[in-house]
Amino acid sequence: MRAELSRLRRQFRFSAGGLSTTVRRVNANRPRQFASDNYAGICPEALEALLEANAHHEVSYGEDAWTAKAADLIREVFETKCEVFFVFNGTAANSLSLAALCQSYHSVLCHELAHVETSECGAPEFFANGSKVLLLPGANGKIDPAAVRNAVLKRTDIHYPKPRALSLTQVTEVGTVYSPDELRALTAVAREHGLRVHMDGSRFANAVAALGVAPKEISWQAGVDVLCFGGSKNGIGIGEAVVFFDLELAKEFEYRCKQGGQLASKMRFLSAPWTGMLRDGAWLKHARRSNAMAKRLAEGLSRVPGVEIVYPVDSNAVFVRLPSGMEEALHRRGWHFYTGVVTPFESRLMCSWDTTEEDVDAFVADALRLTIDD
Ligand SMILES: *Cc1c(COP(=O)(O)O)cnc(C)c1O
Repeated sequence: MRAELSRLRRQFRFSAGGLSTTVRRVNANRPRQFASDNYAGICPEALEALLEANAHHEVSYGEDAWTAKAADLIREVFETKCEVFFVFNGTAANSLSLAALCQSYHSVLCHELAHVETSECGAPEFFANGSKVLLLPGANGKIDPAAVRNAVLKRTDIHYPKPRALSLTQVTEVGTVYSPDELRALTAVAREHGLRVHMDGSRFANAVAALGVAPKEISWQAGVDVLCFGGSKNGIGIGEAVVFFDLELAKEFEYRCKQGGQLASKMRFLSAPWTGMLRDGAWLKHARRSNAMAKRLAEGLSRVPGVEIVYPVDSNAVFVRLPSGMEEALHRRGWHFYTGVVTPFESRLMCSWDTTEEDVDAFVADALRLTIDD
């Protein structure tokens, strides 16, 4: 009995960082964690709209009033004409939209940490029938315009895949944010060399909230042709929106969605939550909160001896290097977070729409306590 109990304790205790930890249980005593903004549930505004959409019969396959309304709200948010498609996740949004930009012999330039490279199991190459993803270096998760130019000019012969698209991640994979000026500099180089611009905006809301800009300033006005506008990490249950600012590129995209398994038969359940997020600005309220909680977490952790904050905390992520033993000790105290997954040796702490001051303070207090106990 005793042995069984301690085996169970071991099994459910979260002990080590890294990919192997993904299937471990979330500690039941902690309602909220810092492992991922995807750990959070559905925010009230999205859930309310989902329930409203559930009240009556509706037309299927996206021909319904909720989907039309959600697309209209997105057009309002971006203050322009655009074509909008709702898909199940970010991998589908990114890979199908990149496929819409590329022929099989083209290449996509992106940062070496880009989700399209590191976390989509080759889906962009697969859906684009073999278009190659080419990796660019750059400090703080950002691409430098010179790196784009170098990559394009490095090879211009017929034996090399022809660069066709620049993919930018806003917010970047390490939580930094491109300013409108940085974006314009990048897209200018892209234009100069005939590249189309794709934006992986799984945390686009956090970027808008952090910069205090109008959404158009960091999308179409900054030269973005297609944006994968993130919903899940912002508080929606399931789904992302693909937003084409270049309407020509959206041609026949509905067929790609269908073929890629992304045409939801009950589309209203993907689209209605967007109406809840966008109609009264809940999307920005939630993004501001998660950003603010990350700031608070960074401030708290900067007072913990031996903890190093490794990137500017522009959004809802805090990347840290922890002193020896602290990662395991925090896991033993029930905290769940990943180490070495996005960048080697660094721990990533994500805040979400429902992160509270108490969560942040409890984490910081535990980290502090560990340094004192030593
Ligand atoms: C989470 C995330 C996505 C979306 O991933 P899915 O798991 O496919 O929904 C895309 N890009 C970035 C940068 C992300 O962090």
